[in-house]
Order: sequence, then structure tokens, then C-alpha cells
Amino acid sequence: MDNCIFCKIANGSINSNTIYEDDLVRVFMDANPVSIGHLLIVPKKHYENILDMPNELLMHEQIVAKKMLNLLKDKLNIDGLTLTQNNLYGQEVKHYHLHLIPRYVNDNIDFKHEDNKSTINETFEKLK
Ligand code: AMP
Ligand code: ZN
Repeated sequence: MDNCIFCKIANGSINSNTIYEDDLVRVFMDANPVSIGHLLIVPKKHYENILDMPNELLMHEQIVAKKMLNLLKDKLNIDGLTLTQNNLYGQEVKHYHLHLIPRYVNDNIDFKHEDNKSTINETFEKLK
């Protein structure tokens, strides 16, 4: 879809810190991470929100999320992983995406975007 930033990232016309991709989805680092290792899974085809997403694609995305949990445990030693996903009100980017938010014991995160930007390059080196 024209003028959709996540379509451009998904199809590779805008660079991203990609951790994983296959025919259906791309996984890349959130530009304003809530915690260290915050990832987004986006479908390569444009769907606005969960209501538009085919069920098979939702299932595929969950399977990819499982893979990413193993990767994050291995490479970043995370203690937990919270999956969140905004639709309609509260959804900033109108191209469906699933947030993978690593948790660390005693992190006390409140799911606002903390000042983790400086860690993105260092974290990408560990995950890619
Ligand atoms: P949401 O409120 O669920 O739509 O969240 C959108 C998310 O996309 C936020 O966490 C942003 O930090 C993230 N984001 C927006 N633009 C980019 C981008 N160009 N690259 C990576 N992440 C982005
Ligand atoms: Zn799109």
C-alpha cells in the first residue's frame, strides 16, 4: 500500500534491523524500544488490523513468535516475553503488527517507550 511505512519496511524498500524473514512476515527491531530487544512481527502483505488478518497468517505469526522467544533467550538472556498488539484506537501504525517485548526480572516496565534507543545497534549485533 502506498505511503505505508511498514509495507516499505516489509518489502525491503526501507532498511530495517531485520532479525528474521520468510515469505509471509518480517521481524525487525522497534525504533523506540520499550525494553531491550523489543521486536515487531509484520505481515509482508498490508492488513490494517487483526480483523483483516487471515487466520492462517495469525497462526504463522505465533509460530514465528515462538522462534523469536528461543532466539531472545539464547542471545539476550531474557527472562520473559510479553506479546501485545494494538487495533483501531491506540494503534499508531495502521499496518498490522505484533509487539514482542522482552521482560527482565525486576524490570518494572510500564510499557511506555523508555529511553532504550541507544541500545538498538548493540542489540541488533547480538540478534542478527
Ligand atoms: P502501535 O502503537 O502498536 O501502532 O506501535 C507502533 C510501533 O512502531 C511503535 O512501537 C513504534 O516505535 C514503531 N515504529 C514506528 N515506525 C517505525 C520504524 N520506521 N521502524 C521501526 N519501528 C517503528
Ligand atoms: Zn502496509
